[in-house]
Parts: sequence; structure tokens; C-alpha cells
Amino acid sequence: MIRSIHAAQRLDSRGCPTVQVELTTEKGEKLLSYLSQMDLPHTKTGTFRALVPSGASTGANEAVELRDGDECAYGGRGVQGAISNIQNVIGPNLLESDFRVDTDQKKIDQFLKNLDGTKNKERLGANAILGVSMACARAGAAHSGIPLYEFLRREAGAKKPFVMPVPFFNVLNGGVHSGNEMAFQETMIAPVGASSITEAVRMGSEVYQHLKKVITEKFGSSGQPISKYLRSSQAQKLTFKKQAIGIGDEGGFAPPISEPHEALDLLVQAVSNSGLSGKIKFAIDPASSEFFREGKYDIGFKSTTNLKTAKEMIGLYQSLLEEYPIVLLEDPFAENDWDSWSEFNKACPVELVGDDLLVTNPEYVQIARQKDACNAMLLKINQIGTISEAIEAANLAYSYNWSVFVSHRSGETTDDFIADLAVGLGTGHLKSGAPCRGERVVKYNRLMDIEAEILADGEKCLFAGSKFKNASRF
Ligand code: PEP
Ligand code: MG
Repeated sequence: MIRSIHAAQRLDSRGCPTVQVELTTEKGEKLLSYLSQMDLPHTKTGTFRALVPSGASTGANEAVELRDGDECAYGGRGVQGAISNIQNVIGPNLLESDFRVDTDQKKIDQFLKNLDGTKNKERLGANAILGVSMACARAGAAHSGIPLYEFLRREAGAKKPFVMPVPFFNVLNGGVHSGNEMAFQETMIAPVGASSITEAVRMGSEVYQHLKKVITEKFGSSGQPISKYLRSSQAQKLTFKKQAIGIGDEGGFAPPISEPHEALDLLVQAVSNSGLSGKIKFAIDPASSEFFREGKYDIGFKSTTNLKTAKEMIGLYQSLLEEYPIVLLEDPFAENDWDSWSEFNKACPVELVGDDLLVTNPEYVQIARQKDACNAMLLKINQIGTISEAIEAANLAYSYNWSVFVSHRSGETTDDFIADLAVGLGTGHLKSGAPCRGERVVKYNRLMDIEAEILADGEKCLFAGSKFKNASRF
């Protein structure tokens, strides 16, 4: 049924090369008129396309992203090797195998896994394999005559009604995603008080615009400091003042702040100014593996040294949870600091999400369960490399009564696949950066389209709201 597979090197949101896959099927052309009627993206020519994302704060146990390492092109970050693996190995083998895209996604993904033959997909590259897996799922949905979210729902065996996820907008960027001094990577707003994804996006956008004003008033954007807001210890930060409303990799602002409470205070102000207090909750992803040094956490790692013990970090998180309306904490401890995860999880009042810790891999999800280390899994499709394995990891997490939080990568593309995935799996929440920058908003826009489509079909469409953790059990 697959007629051709073509791969090409294209750019991601950081201007780095990534893998694009275009797959055509026997029926692709016959489907043309039907698909154009449905106005489905990526399928207008009967070709099913996928673009692969890429992380910066990657977990050590993620499936391997193949890079060429040839300094003469893209500073070594080219993906021609992965492209060649699709063109010369995956493509010919898949074409010979005669799989049906509408019914054989799991078999296709298993085939890709076996063809690679390594534990971490280092031979063919997870970036090569994932592109093909995503394109097959798109083709499978079109051949079944259903939208991608419904195809993925059936693949996962998830129940209806559809539940639209709460968008967690990363509006303040730090860590390895921005040039400011902030060690914590992501400070997010979650409009849990909305009644639909469309309203949640409006709220997110309004707070984002208010946040821009709050930052401008506090730090100035003209190059002149507003001194009444500045402590003497902040004088060094004046060098950042012109960049105060500049944005980081995920579209969030990156003002001259360094402490988590400074970030959260800015959010409190922006939410209050937007008149949405109570409707918006907060979330943090410190991405702490990035600043774990010889058993300690260096929360000054971007400028000086400010080492904290795990116990001190626990104290810091507890005080933040007491002071601010935080509902979710991701990677508060490093991927190999299992003891701190387990200790903190004993009395953690919020969703505790494993990202680097679990790498969307059923093996690590199982270990984390044995150690009682967290209560939620972050789902990043390129951490594991096939759609079926990502779904398997999500279903395993659900079987432990954990929640699942779908995520983009900091190096994203204009592919909106994960919006459909969050709806299909009923994860109840998703993060795709700020409501700003094309590669971020394409996911939020797709979610609003899905919501409109489900409602137009006369189907029940819920919004996860404050119960986002339990959406899979609605
Ligand atoms: C994250 O850490 O959750 C994240 C999205 O960042 P990256 O893609 O750089 O791993
Ligand atoms: Mg993370």
C-alpha cells in the first residue's frame, strides 16, 4: 500500500536541520478529492508528510538522534545520514513488506524497530524512524477516512468522549532555552478555569500580552532602566535590559531574572492585570538534569555558581508550592537522582512529571513505578522514536493511575501531530510553548480546529479544565 517514501533535510525552529518524510500510498491519489473536501493539512497532494522535532535539554536515555558530525555542513548538525537511511534502508524494506497503513501501524512500528535492531535506535536514527512512523499514521488516518486524532484514539484503545487538553503555555524561558540568567527552564501558565480549548487559548494569549507589558514596565524596553524597581544587586542585570522582552526558544519571554520567585511574581502580576486570577494556574519545569553537578544543583549555572543540595531543592520547591498556585512540577530533580524523586513524591501535593527521568520509555516508566518516583509521564514522541511505543508508554503510565502530559520539543517544526495525539490519547494537558511563534501556535491552532470539528460533527467534546490529571478516566 505504501508506494513511495521520500526524505529530505529541512530546518527546525532553531534553524538546525531536521528530517522531513513524505510518503505516498497506492490510494493516495484516489483519496485526493475526499481529503481536499475535508481540508486536512499535510494531505492535500495525497502525500503524507511529517517533520521531526529535536530537544536541547535531552535526557541521557533518549533514543538516538542521528547527526552527521561533519563540521563543513551546519556545524556538524546535518541529518543527511538519517535521510540516507530512510531513502536506502527503511524505504525499500517497507515498500517490500506490503503493510496496510490503515490497520498495521503497530506492525509497521515493530518492523522499524527490528530493522534498526539496536536498543536505542542508534543504527538508523530515531529521527529517521520517527518521521516514517508519523507519516504512516497520517496515511493510516486518511486511508481509514478518519481524522488523525480518531486514528490515534483507536490505536491507543482510548475511550470517548473526546477531551480537549489544557494548554500549558511556557511564557518565561530560561535554562538552556534562553540567554538570561534564569536556571529554571520553563515557567508555564495553565488556563484550567476555561471551558473550552478556544477560551483557554484566548486566556493564554491575553496573559502573555499583559506579561509583555509587566516586563516592559519593570525592566524597560527603551534601554533606560526604571531604577525604582531595581535593587543594587540587580545593577548587573541592566546589561540585559534591552532584551527584556526578547523571547527564548519556546516563544516565552526571557527577561533579566534569575530566581524562580521573580518569574512567578511576574506571572502573578500579569494574570491579575488580565483579570483572570483564579482561572490560571502555574507549572514549572526546572529541567534540573542540566544543572546537576556532582550530586548538587547549581542554580546559578548560567553566570556564577550557586550550589544547592537536594534537600535544599526540596525546601525551595515546597516554599514555591506554598506561595504560588502551582499545579505541576516537571523534572525537579536530575534523571539519575532517583532518591530525591522518591523522597519528594512521598508527600507531593501536585502532579510530578518525569521527563528526562522516563524518556517516554516503558522500561523507565516501570522502574519509576517500582521506586515510586513520580505520578505522571511526559510524552515526547522523539524520545522513543515510534508512535506505537509512545502510545505503549502512555498506556503503561495510565495503568498506574498516573497522568500523561504531551510535549513538544524546544527545537520544533510546523508539524502539528502532537495536537492530535493529545486529543486521541485523552491526556488532558499538553505543552507547546508560548502562544507565540509559528511552530508553537500551529499546535494550539490545530487544537481549536479539532474542537470545532468535533462539535460540528455533533459529538460530545469536553474540556479537561482543573481535572486535567484525570482526563483519561473521564
Ligand atoms: C523539556 O525539557 O520539557 C523540553 C521541552 O525541552 P527540550 O525539548 O529542550 O528537551
Ligand atoms: Mg522537561
